[in-house]
Amino acid sequence: MDSIKRLIRDIPDFPKPGIIFKDITPILGDPGAMARITGAFEREFEAAKPTRIVGIESRGFIFGAVLATALELPFTPVRKPGKLPYDKLSVSYTLEYGQGTLEMHTDGVSSDDRVLIIDDLLATGGTAAAACELVERVGAQVAGVGFVVELLFLNGREKLGGRNVLSLVTY
Ligand code: AMP
Repeated sequence: MDSIKRLIRDIPDFPKPGIIFKDITPILGDPGAMARITGAFEREFEAAKPTRIVGIESRGFIFGAVLATALELPFTPVRKPGKLPYDKLSVSYTLEYGQGTLEMHTDGVSSDDRVLIIDDLLATGGTAAAACELVERVGAQVAGVGFVVELLFLNGREKLGGRNVLSLVTY
């Protein structure tokens, strides 16, 4: 995964002062890197036997939808508020400053699904924990939570409890 790490660039003070933004867009421009990421998720989560992929807006849509297609599994988007048109569930969570909300269609996941949740990056873990809550609220199981990048110093895994968490590149 060193070749993946080399494609991630640091953008200081984006989107606000003090944040070092991990820009993964060069990965999207490298089909070989996308294939290696997809292959790694496929292998590492094979034993979890997922039946559905949930992608978190917005970069989680890209990695999640590519993985869903490779595994021939259905894909469900979890979105920021006000974007989903049909009946939906909402979960609010605490951000470093203020509150965030995520939404999912009520028919997005069924109670017998084993869901693999995908996002680009695990920071404090609030976003992924909210996505887990949405999935579990309909009675489905979180089979795994996968990230391309994990910022270890923010201890986001703690918010995900004992769930099956995998990240491919760490800082
Ligand atoms: P968190 O809820 O703190 O784990 O934040 C995770 C979400 O925010 C993910 O959807 C990431 O895309 C985004 N994010 C948070 N921090 C960063 C960062 N330093 N660089 C890029 N994306 C980030």
